[in-house]
Amino acid sequence: MDDDAGRLGIHGVRLLDLLAGSGLLVALFDAGDVLRYANPAFRRTFGVEPGQAVGWAQMMRGNQHNPGGPLAHTDDFEKWLTAALSRRGKQPFRAFEVDLKDGRWLWITEVIEADGWMLTIAADVTYSAHAGQERQARLDRDIALRVARTDELTGTLNRRGILAALEDACVRLPAEGRGYALVLLDLDHFKLINDGHGHDAGDEVLRRFVRHAQSRLRPADFFGRYGGEEFLLVLPDTDAAQADALLARIRAGMPEIELPTTGARLTPGFSAGVIAVRQARLPREQLHAVDRALYRAKHAGRNCTVIGELEPAG
Ligand code: GH3
Ligand code: MG
Ligand code: MG
Repeated sequence: MDDDAGRLGIHGVRLLDLLAGSGLLVALFDAGDVLRYANPAFRRTFGVEPGQAVGWAQMMRGNQHNPGGPLAHTDDFEKWLTAALSRRGKQPFRAFEVDLKDGRWLWITEVIEADGWMLTIAADVTYSAHAGQERQARLDRDIALRVARTDELTGTLNRRGILAALEDACVRLPAEGRGYALVLLDLDHFKLINDGHGHDAGDEVLRRFVRHAQSRLRPADFFGRYGGEEFLLVLPDTDAAQADALLARIRAGMPEIELPTTGARLTPGFSAGVIAVRQARLPREQLHAVDRALYRAKHAGRNCTVIGELEPAG
């Protein structure tokens, strides 16, 4: 390992030159999803300056006006971004195709280290053997799979999507010796918003809440809409106290939302139940435990977090 690092020191520049000459796009993002290195081909395509330490979400926002950037296939950019963030940085390896506004196609691979850093390598596959109808079929399939796991209103994972993430996490993480926190949260007195300001106002609060909460999460975190105004979070390598602190930060930073119907302004509150999971347990048992903790938070007066416990296995 040390030997490898030493050799890269000597040949690192040459490696980067080779990558540049190969036309591959190479980039490195840190655990907070900030771009730490990008070769010229990557920078050209995604419109970033040399040495610019830009967050991935901000880079994609900038790409709305970049004639060469990726196509978002949407007229609602924020929802597209939410959907992309709800999938980005959560698996050790991911590969997919992306089409650019200039007609090129990229085959993108993402490799994530245990510490959360991500290496992205992309190849231009515009003229590869896979072009044409096959590619369209693959793209259609990918879109259908994504839609099946995406919440139509907010763009984040839907119930199916977040439960799939929980099922995966509760097997994979304990097997790797890692724990996670599970959070169930529910917006407070949401019915009053609907009743007082109309259903569209409630919808806007849900959209804005999702965008705000997601902006406080790390790439590795899973966030999904579990039901009406209930959300489930799976936070890898996080204990109950850290989850509690995260929820406090989400509360403290909650924006004041101007309702589209009545123009009234309000800052939504939420109650949350948290459990820490270290050993493989059935999702059903975990959901039961966070639901009990959430119930206690509601009864404790709302807008607070209660840390619960899994019942002993057996
Ligand atoms: P509590 O603090 O106890 O959670 O009270 P609450 O009013 O938030 O809870 P309750 O379960 O009584 O009401 C939830 C409401 O959420 C009822 C339902 O109509 C509304 N709701 C569910 N899905 C949506 C949606 O997609 N859009 C809107 N606007 N409202 C929704
Ligand atoms: Mg509620
Ligand atoms: Mg509810």
